[in-house]
Amino acid sequence: MFRDGENDYTARMWVVFAVLALSCLVSPVAVSAADKQPPKELYDALNALRIDPAAVYSLEASNRIELRRGDAKLSFDEGRLAFFAPFGGRITGAVFAGRGHALALPRDPVEKQQMARFLGAPVLDQDFTSVYLRFTDDSAEDLLRQFKNASAAPQQDTTFAAQWESQLARANPQYSLRILFETLSQHPRHFFYAGLEGTATGAFDVLLDNMRMEQMLFAQPRKTGDSAFYDVWASYSIPGTSPPPVAFHALQYAIETSILANNSLDATATIHLRAETGGERLLIFQLSRALSVDSVADDRGAPLVFFQNEGMSLQERSVHGSDFLHVVLPEAPAQGQEFSLRFRYRGNVIEDAGNGVLFVGARESWYPHLGDASDFADYDLTIRWPRHLRLVATGAKLEEHEEGDSRAGHWRTDQPVSVAGFNLGEYEFASLPSEKHSVDVYANRQLEEALRSHLTRREPDAFTDLPAPFGVPSSRAQLEMPVAPPTPAGALKQLGQEIDSSIRFYETFSGPFPFRTLSVSQIPGTFGQGWPGLLYLSTFSFLPAEAQRRAGLSSAGQEHFTDLVPFHEVAHQWWGNVVGWSSYRDQWIDEAMASYLALLFADSQKLPEHKLRLWLTRFRKRLAEKSPHSDVLVADLGALTLGSRLNSSMSPNGFEQVIYTKGAWVIHMIRELLRQPGGKNPDARFTALLQTLATKYAYRALSTDDLQHEVEAAMTPSMDLEGNRSMEWFFEQWVRGTGIPHYRVEFSVHRGEKGYLVRGKLFQAGVPRSFLARVPLYAGNGTGHAVPLGSVIASGPETPFQFLAPDAPRRILTDPQMTLLCTTE
Ligand SMILES: [Zn+2]
Repeated sequence: MFRDGENDYTARMWVVFAVLALSCLVSPVAVSAADKQPPKELYDALNALRIDPAAVYSLEASNRIELRRGDAKLSFDEGRLAFFAPFGGRITGAVFAGRGHALALPRDPVEKQQMARFLGAPVLDQDFTSVYLRFTDDSAEDLLRQFKNASAAPQQDTTFAAQWESQLARANPQYSLRILFETLSQHPRHFFYAGLEGTATGAFDVLLDNMRMEQMLFAQPRKTGDSAFYDVWASYSIPGTSPPPVAFHALQYAIETSILANNSLDATATIHLRAETGGERLLIFQLSRALSVDSVADDRGAPLVFFQNEGMSLQERSVHGSDFLHVVLPEAPAQGQEFSLRFRYRGNVIEDAGNGVLFVGARESWYPHLGDASDFADYDLTIRWPRHLRLVATGAKLEEHEEGDSRAGHWRTDQPVSVAGFNLGEYEFASLPSEKHSVDVYANRQLEEALRSHLTRREPDAFTDLPAPFGVPSSRAQLEMPVAPPTPAGALKQLGQEIDSSIRFYETFSGPFPFRTLSVSQIPGTFGQGWPGLLYLSTFSFLPAEAQRRAGLSSAGQEHFTDLVPFHEVAHQWWGNVVGWSSYRDQWIDEAMASYLALLFADSQKLPEHKLRLWLTRFRKRLAEKSPHSDVLVADLGALTLGSRLNSSMSPNGFEQVIYTKGAWVIHMIRELLRQPGGKNPDARFTALLQTLATKYAYRALSTDDLQHEVEAAMTPSMDLEGNRSMEWFFEQWVRGTGIPHYRVEFSVHRGEKGYLVRGKLFQAGVPRSFLARVPLYAGNGTGHAVPLGSVIASGPETPFQFLAPDAPRRILTDPQMTLLCTTE
């Protein structure tokens, strides 16, 4: 599922324990005796753990105690440290109050840069006054050994233990499931967590969790205004460690759901699963908290233990869209074993935007969903809904019929998809059938209430919901417009035809359209979403230009909703719904592809308006501007590979600001590098690259490393700037790095025997000294006509050059063809 235009992405999965524990590893360890106890009892016992009043240690400056975990060092200089009462014979926590110091140096330059953005220095170097520790590693043994060496003995201190009572009651549930998970696993992977109260920074987290893809994490929960963020200062893998493999894979989802008159769901989902590693008992599904689970049963109908949203803090809930459902199997299935789980649940995830406009809240998971955006499975949907509404869903519709006051329909996917969705409303409908696929467009006769009241107001103002560059209130002409609201259904046929042309256009680059039908349905608000075979498009995309203007859209905003958004979402049908992504570090690829292909399509439609140049220029301008509320240029917020981490309290819309703009430029630069001017099809190599990606990575994840590898397989000698058949330079600078180069040229002309000798220097700024780029230079003669001189491989702050030209250039133009993301003088 791809949600665009809002700063909420399902990809935040890497933060919480719950999801970090999605997978597990094989490294045989004896099963603890605790696994015989019922999971609910274990969970309650873990929540109830308190400080052992007889295990309180006093720390003097003379017997400093420290813990080294991964790259972090925590020193406990002075104060009191106390252990939790044991759980199943093991100590799983400790607390500290006093004076201490945290020190950490991330290894990776990108992570250092992020640390510096948040802390002002590329290292964590902070005093703290209190700590809450939870762990399953040997932290307790380590601390006890140090106390013993320092001849420190525990004291009885009931007052100190009591002081922590309420904090433990609040904090424990977040770690209980994580500890339970390990207790139930035959291949436990340990974790260490420290929640510190920093003197200068406030509360922050240090985590080393071997169940995470990136074990080391330094982060801070933060609130600005009404928004809650989890600012990740640094997150990375410890060298020499292997990521945990996926423990379970969903093969098929069969969902039967009734949508009742009050818009609530009453559903049964049967999920067929396979144990990939064996030895695990806990499965983690995403499921909206708005839905409550009545039961989970196994193949034989026996009820299973489950936990819904337990242990999630309010802060986690506000940061994460979807919520979690943990299911415990009575025993661990063997590797390769297939089994089914049956869920019964009900609740309301359908929002009513007024005037017959209903939609499934996008950040909600309306069925228990296992895995990430690269977890492809078959879906079978049976849905019943109120008869007066029209319903569109993922998959091919097998049949639809009436049952009293309801309608019922059956859909099945033709090929695996990573997510399924539906939408319903009082829709008008138009279908454009063609040989291989049909495009069905659904729109309401009426506008959603918010927009309708906005448009009928006497003095319209900017629609407050719009992304920053698009919501600029436009002209005074607004006031003279008639007040009758337009109807979104008016544009059905035209939008359908445009979407159909975009499908044909994209097929050249990405291969045949992957679905039999593309259903396009209107959704309130300003975002778009691309489900497999189903698009949700903002009402704005259905409105005529005049109504868009009245709603407060700037001209760039109108172009955005009319020329880009629908086609960006169509491009996701391949890039996202066929080619998947798994790590948050790779999500940029599908967004960048969708963003760039939408520009290419717009460019092909609106001849001779040069939409590609227009939008690339706009994107470059946005990247070179300061990010709102900060001194940092948008291009310097962070690398593309930071994905959803770009959204933080310091840049709430960082993802959107960087990924769509710089991402599109990166794909454009790859296309320009692969271009063969003068050939029959100058884009043949670029097209072949995209076709390869779309076939080779169909129904699985495409990573940044895979992309680099495929570009290297297609690269030409002129792309080999380092002479090692590698595109490392390009990916390091543009994908894993930040910044945009700025160029300035100084030159002189001397008349020679064979023409004019042009000598000069190319100055490069704004990027690291090691930044490499092939910079095309053109001779300008003052009439607007530019003649290529040649290109200079810029390396370092200044690079000398020399060209022979038939005429004396009046000035030298840097890359007038826009092949390189740069700024010039
Ligand atoms: Zn997108």
